[in-house]
Amino acid sequence: MIEDKTPQKTSISQLGEFGLIDHLTQHFQITQSSTLKGIGDDAAILDFKDKKVVVSTDLLIEGVHFDLAYMPLKHLGYKAIVVNLSDICAMNAKPTQITVSVAVSNRFPLEALEELFEGITLAANHYKVDVIGGDTTSSQKGLIISITAIGAADENEIAYRDGAQSTDLLVVTGDIGSAYMGLQVLEREKQVFLVNPNSQPDLDQYAYLVERQLRPEARTDVKTLLHALEIKPTSMIDISDGLSSEIMHLCKKSKVGCNLYEDKLPIDPQLISVCEEFNIDSTTVAINGGEDYELLFTISINDFEKIKANPNFTIIGHMTQESEGIHLITRANTKIELRARGWNALEEE
Ligand code: ADP
Ligand code: MG
Repeated sequence: MIEDKTPQKTSISQLGEFGLIDHLTQHFQITQSSTLKGIGDDAAILDFKDKKVVVSTDLLIEGVHFDLAYMPLKHLGYKAIVVNLSDICAMNAKPTQITVSVAVSNRFPLEALEELFEGITLAANHYKVDVIGGDTTSSQKGLIISITAIGAADENEIAYRDGAQSTDLLVVTGDIGSAYMGLQVLEREKQVFLVNPNSQPDLDQYAYLVERQLRPEARTDVKTLLHALEIKPTSMIDISDGLSSEIMHLCKKSKVGCNLYEDKLPIDPQLISVCEEFNIDSTTVAINGGEDYELLFTISINDFEKIKANPNFTIIGHMTQESEGIHLITRANTKIELRARGWNALEEE
């Protein structure tokens, strides 16, 4: 007997809208006590008692925000959730629920949507957030995903972008720049593949960078870490567009300036070696590359002792008076003005 190796392709029109929704949402479980009613009625019902509710939403469009040529659908589902949970974390709140809306063209078989929802389910389970609803509809072209994330926090814990003081320290979690370089590696492999479809990419030496791009994590742990250290961030933002751009946001909203120190930037060793291979400056990548989904925040100088030796956090600079401007202090001790360049800034060079 000849084995059929072609992956199964079931047309989504075979199931009908309601069959499709049931099929895709059957594995979602409710674990949050604040979820009174999830999927299955005209609307979900939530109860946050004395907490404040934090809401954020994002729209992801094929060809604009993701490219299915190197983004497996399972990773896309996972990442779509992460990106939204990161926004809740950036308010120093705890994510609790999400809604998931998708529009798909009939070029996608059921199996493709199953893969997408597998990634969504993985993320929902990993971060213990309930999927409480969404919408499923058709699109004329491509895939569109919209996620809304909901979270909760005590009013006095919430960190806004506008709370930084001119004497505060600037702190970042994890390391930065790797997700951008991971994308560069994947783009290069895609070009090689287009020329020679039989080529098999060997990505072992780029594993960390590629993982940072394809499978970022939301820093849901940071709120707990800061709470344990008895530190309340004075302002906070997540790094989606790149460090430089996020610093500008904090400074603008808080009406302060900033000195950022090049020698303090947390950069993974793999990023340094791959930057050498690509002949690109690792500081430029760390400052302008996006999609790390780490958290950037300010703390009072009085909290320095509490945070200085903590491996989760790196103090990368300090805020100043607004009139002093926003600068990078290089290793050679020269002062360069930081410019408002976000995502894609590197391509313009
Ligand atoms: P309505 O007609 O009110 O829009 P639907 O038939 O679209 O309701 O959805 C039925 C239920 O399934 C609702 O609870 C809705 O939130 C949920 N739902 C629909 N699509 C999705 C999806 N992609 N992910 C999660 N829940 C969904
Ligand atoms: Mg609907």
